[in-house]
Amino acid sequence: MHDNNFLKENNARHMWHPMAHPAEMRANPPKVITAAEGVTLTDVDGHKSLDAVGGLWNVNLGYSCDPIKQAISRQLDQLAYYSAFRGTATGPAVELSYALAEWFRPDGLVRSFFTSGGSDSVETALRLARQYHKIRGERDRTKFLSLKKGYHGTHFGGASVNGNSNFRRNYEPLLPGCFQTTAPYLYRNPFGETDPARLAQLCAAALEDEIAFQGADTIAAFIMEPVLGAGGVIPPHESFMPLVREICDRHGILLIADEVITAFGRTGAWTGSRLWGVKPDLMCTAKAITNGYFPFGAVMIGEKVTEAFETNNDSFGAIGHGYTYSAHPVGAAAALACLPEMEKAGLAANAAARGAELIAGCAALMERHESVGDVRGKGLMVAIELVGDRKTKKPIDKKLIGKVFETTYRQGVMVRVSGNTIILSPPLIVTAADVGTIVSAIDAGLSAI
Ligand code: PMP
Repeated sequence: MHDNNFLKENNARHMWHPMAHPAEMRANPPKVITAAEGVTLTDVDGHKSLDAVGGLWNVNLGYSCDPIKQAISRQLDQLAYYSAFRGTATGPAVELSYALAEWFRPDGLVRSFFTSGGSDSVETALRLARQYHKIRGERDRTKFLSLKKGYHGTHFGGASVNGNSNFRRNYEPLLPGCFQTTAPYLYRNPFGETDPARLAQLCAAALEDEIAFQGADTIAAFIMEPVLGAGGVIPPHESFMPLVREICDRHGILLIADEVITAFGRTGAWTGSRLWGVKPDLMCTAKAITNGYFPFGAVMIGEKVTEAFETNNDSFGAIGHGYTYSAHPVGAAAALACLPEMEKAGLAANAAARGAELIAGCAALMERHESVGDVRGKGLMVAIELVGDRKTKKPIDKKLIGKVFETTYRQGVMVRVSGNTIILSPPLIVTAADVGTIVSAIDAGLSAI
């Protein structure tokens, strides 16, 4: 094993970091994290910070969850791998599908298709949506609609429904037949609308218009995050997702909830769909399902789609999709141990309470710092959008936001910067005192500019 200097020197030399410019990473190597406990990270220099990023929106129970660790270890001893392709299964995978059917019953979701992460879950849901219409004889329903600003992972399917051109342009041409409509982004929207309920109606009308333009009978599914995450934390008005559900139903379009971030408590409800009182046809999950302890995901499937597949009696109904690591027994064992821990810790309720405090704390920073243009969030997903000028809403200079990040980190809090926005998604076990620590460190960070 090499020492810490080796890690610092070689960081970004041979490894390309995801979502980063290789040259920029070489010039300015990212922090090397070497250990973590509870909600606290330690870097290669021994500096400690409260992880207000929660890994990458996934370490909801923090870094010291022994039951998950032990379940992984026991499973590795007993059976490190076997496949779930036609003909075989493993115990933990079967048990997990049973447990998830209980967990997601309030969302009307009864079957699981297992994956290795969020992008795989999105790809799976898109494919199943197309196949659903094909086996029912509506073979022209192949298109996908989604929201601008939406993020759905990086496979070609997910990138094609993605609503951010940074993740699209370099990889075009993408999947044909994917179209984006306006997201209910209150701070910046093309209607100049400032009332969230009216904006929800305008965005629903824009979706309706696109459906009419494309032809409803050509559309397989609409995919959306109940609260947009990576696009800058955009919580819609409570009426938006129910409006979308109604529109989809009226036009025979499946509704896919991409809950890779929002499932398992982050918004303050156990799922984002439940938060808005909507039952999706398919739900993409990953991330917190194993608390970051193992790469794993599940697409949850509702009654309508389940029935179409299970009553199909020709070869079209066979699923021609799956991964070597679909239903990996170690991942399944990790998820199976994670579910009761999340429930015991009351993560959803804590996310709601601490989230309200965090949003209020960050909103108070607006009075002290001209650079804060907007603060928004739901539960423990929060965004602070920084601007150079509040009137024009011109995004703040990139260098300045780098300085905010670095100062906040030195103050003992790790945040995430995305464009001109600071994104906060701490573990859902944070205390009121942790929330105070996060807000004061950001206050210091903003003071530095
Ligand atoms: N969908 C959403 C809503 C996400 O936030 C993400 C990841 N941030 C993904 C899909 C992709 O997940 P992964 O990075 O695990 O492939």
